[in-house]
Amino acid sequence: MPLLELENVSVAYGRIEAVRNVSLTVEEGELVTLIGANGAGKTTTMRAISGVRPLAGGVVRFNGQDITKMKAHERVKAGVIQAPEGRGVFPGMTVEENLEMGAFARTFATKAERESTLERVFTLFPRLAERRKQLGGTMSGGEQQMVAIGRALMARPVLLLLDEPSMGLAPMMIQQIFTTISQINKEGTTVLLVEQNARQALSRSDRAYVLETGEVTRAGGGRELLNDPAVIEAYLGVA
Ligand code: ATP
Repeated sequence: MPLLELENVSVAYGRIEAVRNVSLTVEEGELVTLIGANGAGKTTTMRAISGVRPLAGGVVRFNGQDITKMKAHERVKAGVIQAPEGRGVFPGMTVEENLEMGAFARTFATKAERESTLERVFTLFPRLAERRKQLGGTMSGGEQQMVAIGRALMARPVLLLLDEPSMGLAPMMIQQIFTTISQINKEGTTVLLVEQNARQALSRSDRAYVLETGEVTRAGGGRELLNDPAVIEAYLGVA
């Protein structure tokens, strides 16, 4: 049984069907990526999973349970955690306070659990440990991305949803974010990633799906798609 399963999911904005009959699975422990051009429906698919956008059709299952009608906050409680879009760091709070906000998303966390999770985040992102008293709003773009991912981790995700974590970052920082995402996954968190940076994402993914104008047009192993001529031409540029 997959951890996450989308079966013929469609999502519409008014008359525009942004996602059409998308079926995909994420197995426990996997790192799966959605790639696709601007407007292909990647973010909309994430919204269908996190529950912030209702479906026009289809079913979403998590852990074998139909969650299609479940509210977004209930999905959070079940462990479906999305790092905030556009980073969403609270500018007037310190890095540490920002991270602690993430722990409130799930009520089961005891003080000891919270502290050990915070230490884990600081181990993954040493920069955040150094800057724990700095205000979120004064952190650089890449550092704010780390805060956003760290905050999501504080909720102890069963499934971590990341929407373009490399967006707007300098090449060095992109490398670092991808390395950390791989590490988070290797330590046991299942990850569904949306990325424009297809080469990096595919090389680190167990599997991936290609979305084109709202539909899945290709699926396969990360490395398999990395060597697929159609994917190379459309998303990887000249190799
Ligand atoms: P990008 O890589 O540019 O973020 P994406 O693959 O994430 O793109 P979506 O943001 O899911 O694509 O958008 C899919 C389609 O739905 C686009 O045509 C977009 O214009 C449209 N869309 C997205 N959000 C809304 C909205 N709130 N209202 C109307 N149309 C929307």
